[in-house]
Amino acid sequence: MKKIAVIFNGGTISMKVDERIKAAIPSLTGEEIMAMVAGIENYAEIESYTFSSMPSPHMTFKTILELSNFVRDLVNRSDIDGIVITHGTDTLEETAYFLDLTIDTSKPIVITGAMRSSSELGYDGPFNLATSICTAIADDSIGRGVLVCFNGELNSASEVTKANSMALNAFRTPNFGPIGIVDNNKVIFYRNTINPSKYKIDKIEKDVALIKCAVDMDSTFIDFIIERGYGGIVIEALGRGNVPPKMVSGIKRAIDSNIPVIIVSRCFEGRVHESYGYEGGGKMLLDLGIIFGDTLPGQKARVKLLLSINSGLSMEQIKKQFE
Ligand code: ASP
Repeated sequence: MKKIAVIFNGGTISMKVDERIKAAIPSLTGEEIMAMVAGIENYAEIESYTFSSMPSPHMTFKTILELSNFVRDLVNRSDIDGIVITHGTDTLEETAYFLDLTIDTSKPIVITGAMRSSSELGYDGPFNLATSICTAIADDSIGRGVLVCFNGELNSASEVTKANSMALNAFRTPNFGPIGIVDNNKVIFYRNTINPSKYKIDKIEKDVALIKCAVDMDSTFIDFIIERGYGGIVIEALGRGNVPPKMVSGIKRAIDSNIPVIIVSRCFEGRVHESYGYEGGGKMLLDLGIIFGDTLPGQKARVKLLLSINSGLSMEQIKKQFE
């Protein structure tokens, strides 16, 4: 029987409603959650760890890096066949992507959580945990990078985003859809994903700012970011990767200060491209020296740029990573 390490790390899966404040807070221990996954001992040997009981808006890059090191130590153990991690859903995609970009292993790493707390009818925590363990023991999950498992659907950490603030199938892959499903405890994959190159990182010193573009915006925020000494900027631009003309001077100043600027789209689907040649259009930005972030949402482009900068990559190398 395969041995799976289950790392409890907070989120709604570990919460219940506190009667005094009438809102959900972290309350359940890993053992209490695990006890609700009845019959799992027939599928896998479980070794449980408690990493934190954090709501995911409290996550920091320092904590995510610690989690990455913690997981790496476990995957390096020959008796552990796979890892399941619980996480709050709000920033889950960022942690999942960070782990995918920093842990070099073919062993399955599956991240899950819950959209409903244990006080709500239809609490989805035990089901998500059970299906995640089924995913971690499946031979077919080997070599697929970090996977996100919710509602019986499997998405790749490199593609997934939280697309709904309340639905049980909140985690979706824009453009392509899930890479697989868990049906009757059996894992079925429908397609492969690209295994991203890994970053070696031991500390995070430089932060990356994220700006969302909107009509008639100017360079005020960009100038502030340059002044504050951020290591990089991600801009969720309009449509195919265009910005209002008044943002161009700020972008130029950032690039002249050797601050990498990644352009992604604020659209939920589609990729960015140098389609437009007018003032602020993608072609003009590319000529200024921005780097396109393909289909990544801003929050994930930020994770990738943060890892690129803090592992000491040059502007040229960063460009290669994003291309
Ligand atoms: N706000 C919660 C968190 O991210 C949501 C959840 O876990 O579903 O911790």
